[in-house]
Amino acid sequence: MRRKKAHIDARIEQANIDKSVIILLTGNGKGKSSSALGMICRALGYNMQIAVVKFLKGVQDTGEDIFLAQQPSVQTTFMKTGFTWDTQDKEYDTKMALEAWQHAEHYLSNKTIDLVVLDELTYMINYKYLDEQIIINALNNRPSHQHIVITGRAASKALIDCADTVSDIKDIKHAFKANIKAQKGIDF
Ligand code: ATP
Ligand code: MG
Repeated sequence: MRRKKAHIDARIEQANIDKSVIILLTGNGKGKSSSALGMICRALGYNMQIAVVKFLKGVQDTGEDIFLAQQPSVQTTFMKTGFTWDTQDKEYDTKMALEAWQHAEHYLSNKTIDLVVLDELTYMINYKYLDEQIIINALNNRPSHQHIVITGRAASKALIDCADTVSDIKDIKHAFKANIKAQKGIDF
């Protein structure tokens, strides 16, 4: 334990770069968007200013949508469409994705915002609704203190390369596969 403590203390001492980070939460397991919400809670604890863009908004409000709407330090933009396999209208979805992205760009150039969450952004790249390079450029040119959290399955290589921290959340089991309905306060 003493050796372990010395090793950890040395690692902590070495980590002396203080900079904003891009966190990417990907993979097929549950916990990506809710982890992003966890970081929003942390940031709110320090009175930080937060912007959230929810790409692929579902049909109903989630518990966090209701909670975030009550937070004066949080501004949220919802992409105005349901899931693409419901709408089956690529042209419309692309237009809505671009509209949501314009809000994201605005947040990514706003120095008063400390944390930007881009929820389900990976799909916009994978479905080619948005241009990957434009996204990467906007992330790289953001205000120097601004943190980013990106969520969504199957993150592209360019996003992984661009991020500082990447977690691949593995699906070992999900209640839904045992026919358990999505639960209020847990899944939405
Ligand atoms: P959460 O918002 O709960 O953190 P997530 O962001 O990791 O989940 P998404 O792919 O965005 O996952 O899907 C959101 C919804 O789908 C949630 O209701 C979640 O419980 C459910 N879900 C997530 N992963 C799985 C899975 N592997 N199988 C079935 N349902 C899932
Ligand atoms: Mg999610």
